[in-house]
Amino acid sequence: MTRRLYYEDEYLCQFDATVRECRMKNDERWIVLLDQTAFFPEGGGQWPDLGTLGEANVLDVHERNGEVEHLVDMYLTPGKQIHGCIDWERRFSVMQQHSGEHIFSGLVHATFGYDNVGFHIGSEAVTMDFNGEITEEEARNIETKANKVIFSNVPIEHFILDKETRKTLEYRSKKEIEGDLRIVRIPGADTCACCGTHLHRTGEIGQIRLIGVQKYKTGVRVSILCGLRALMYERRIQDEMEKVHRLVSSRLENCAAVIEQVLEERKNLQYKNEQMAMRLFELQSRSEQDKPVRVVHCDELTGDGTARAAGKLADGARIALVTSGEEENISFALCSDEMDVRPITRVLCQVFSGKGGGKPGMTQGKIRRTDRDVLRKWLCDNI
Ligand SMILES: [Zn+2]
Repeated sequence: MTRRLYYEDEYLCQFDATVRECRMKNDERWIVLLDQTAFFPEGGGQWPDLGTLGEANVLDVHERNGEVEHLVDMYLTPGKQIHGCIDWERRFSVMQQHSGEHIFSGLVHATFGYDNVGFHIGSEAVTMDFNGEITEEEARNIETKANKVIFSNVPIEHFILDKETRKTLEYRSKKEIEGDLRIVRIPGADTCACCGTHLHRTGEIGQIRLIGVQKYKTGVRVSILCGLRALMYERRIQDEMEKVHRLVSSRLENCAAVIEQVLEERKNLQYKNEQMAMRLFELQSRSEQDKPVRVVHCDELTGDGTARAAGKLADGARIALVTSGEEENISFALCSDEMDVRPITRVLCQVFSGKGGGKPGMTQGKIRRTDRDVLRKWLCDNI
């Protein structure tokens, strides 16, 4: 059995070991067993460690049949002494995320009684799924409390509980575990069964930043960032805010109000544009009034305006086609109070390279730019 150095010293990032076994997994990969290792195998939601064993790169680490299996990209000779190096930056960040998760989950459990039923360290954020709902404000309160636990810099303890003693201790656990149980305790925040590696003191987490609370199954999914990840996130947000600040030329605390005003003005302008487009359309449709088949093109109509215009144009006609838009991408609306326009729309789209659909009395879609007289002639020939 491999001696697990990561439980004896979580901060050990270099070690010497003897290769016990090396078997080929495929053409370029081997599985290596050592007499002892500081490489943490994936488990309990924690990432496996990466790094090097001598000249070989460690690509993955798993636990199988009580052994720690290192997946490497080179053959290593059994019996040989080897020097192992762990990617410490990655491991330290993982420990920050993991210890931070314990604090957050422990506080949620103590405050609301909910369990963390799904813990995942993603490449972007840590997610925790709780089996009960908490609001964003409640999550913010937990975030504040969690950061206070970090500021108090309490030691993170771990110890083994035997079957008898475990009856006297309250702890969080995802599943029933037979035999000895490894407990990780953070005074004032959490006591939890865990096989992962943790920091020595809460202060090393740096900070916990709540970045999302969303409904998930019967509860919520909460996303957090710890340590350097939180700092990088803050920096990205700050950079974006600086850009916004420069764009609206206002004091940072007024940016939202200025943007709100700009959006309101934009909405009013859009409304005015639509009104003007409709007036233009009405002028253009005057010459169509006496015809049973009416076709109008109006550059200025946008969105729902095209359908509204077709509805008006169809009044008193057999069928009305309105096209709108500039360049090659032309919107159309086909309307009739007398017939189901869907079959003819299908043919229209085939002939004029478009797509569209809708209800019996009104269809909408896109076709290629086509002269109005060509469209009118085609419609007259096909209805
Ligand atoms: Zn854990």
